[in-house]
Amino acid sequence: MSTILERYKAAFQKHEELAKHAGQIFPDGVTHDGRHADPFPIYIDRTKGSKKWGVDNREFIDYWAGHGSLLLGHGHPAIVEAVRNQMERGTHYGACHPLELEWACIVTDLIPSAERVRFVNSGTEATMMALRLSRTYTGKNKLLKFAGHFHGWHDFVVQDAQPPFGKPVPGIPGEVLNTTVICPPNDIGAVERCLQTDSDIACIILEPTGGSWGTIPTKVEFLRQLREVTHHYGVVLIFDEVVTGFRVSPGGAQGHYGVTPDLTSLAKILAGGLPGGALVGKKEILNLISIKEQADSEEYKKMPHPGTFNANPLSASAAIAMLKIVKTGEPHPHVNRTAAVLRDGFNEVIDRHELDWAAYGEFSCLKLLVGHGEKVPARDFNPHEWDYRRLKGGAKPELSINLRCGMLLNGIDFPGGAMTTTAHTDEDIQQTIVAFEQTIEWMKEDGLM
Ligand code: PMP
Repeated sequence: MSTILERYKAAFQKHEELAKHAGQIFPDGVTHDGRHADPFPIYIDRTKGSKKWGVDNREFIDYWAGHGSLLLGHGHPAIVEAVRNQMERGTHYGACHPLELEWACIVTDLIPSAERVRFVNSGTEATMMALRLSRTYTGKNKLLKFAGHFHGWHDFVVQDAQPPFGKPVPGIPGEVLNTTVICPPNDIGAVERCLQTDSDIACIILEPTGGSWGTIPTKVEFLRQLREVTHHYGVVLIFDEVVTGFRVSPGGAQGHYGVTPDLTSLAKILAGGLPGGALVGKKEILNLISIKEQADSEEYKKMPHPGTFNANPLSASAAIAMLKIVKTGEPHPHVNRTAAVLRDGFNEVIDRHELDWAAYGEFSCLKLLVGHGEKVPARDFNPHEWDYRRLKGGAKPELSINLRCGMLLNGIDFPGGAMTTTAHTDEDIQQTIVAFEQTIEWMKEDGLM
């Protein structure tokens, strides 16, 4: 019998043709590092609910969920209607408009730290703004971040976000790198030592549920300790809630844990599945963007901030439709439960096959660690006991590649982890667990483990 990869190549020929063409145009043939896949990625033509269909009409249950932006699944009727109506009225007014106000009011209503709002176009822009404002506000230059935490791709945050850890990312000036202080996650002692010895640290940024939305989980106690030490040392605390905002709870991770940062970066769900982001937070910090307030101050500190598509009406329309549903709190029990069933189902399969794999995670996320090399039953796996370098980037590539291709052959788009949406049904989840077991059996037949 042919191997998984041979069957994948035979089954996805139309996709391979497109990938070959793309390889001549895009570096790596892709438009986002995370969409790179071996031997080639699939090409999608349309989506609905929990499903997506390839260019050859093959159906998949989708666990990418628009990189986390689609809490309500694909094409939710309320969002489609809002965007369709807005399309008729205009996609860019080149002016202020009531929708941006309505959008911002829902955000300030839901997110505890949001006294003021500034819309941007992506999560990357939101964290970039957070750092600049923190520097202006404190008069200090440096940022403290945690290894394995991801905050976008700009110069100040990209170091040690992904493996290989400890190697300088090319193209970033040494002067910039020297302003980024990196600590291991969950180590309050290391943070305090940095703050004691370096009085030039303006802010601390982290993903509140942990690096890459919980791949390296954060201890709740650590969030509280960070709040205390940042208060003590006069350092701005930034929660990067680009993924967790509106997903963990209507008020994000900060709403769930009751720890309120000074600034919060938002994107993804914030914009209803369309492009958009925001920085929200303390009035006195966000007001450093205000021309009026700064004109009156002795020391002119205004942060310049234009942006052609800031708060564009199309994104605003989708966002308002999405956030009105988020506000009901109804999506969260469903997405959390379906993800928990998926994690438990995967772990039963893993233990039945006695693999050194584990599914873990919280809320609506599933993280999968494959080939970790230890004899720990998946049901007893505790990521808090594991070094971040093993949790993120420790997987053997051949296992990940074959798992991904096998899952696609079984009708599941599972990019190595999963986020659930309100569109995922119990039937989808059961079908996914069956597909996972089938893929593992194939991988065993192929001699991969
Ligand atoms: N922060 C976090 C926590 C993210 O997960 C991401 C994107 N995955 C970003 C920032 C960057 O957001 P964007 O891709 O919109 O620039």
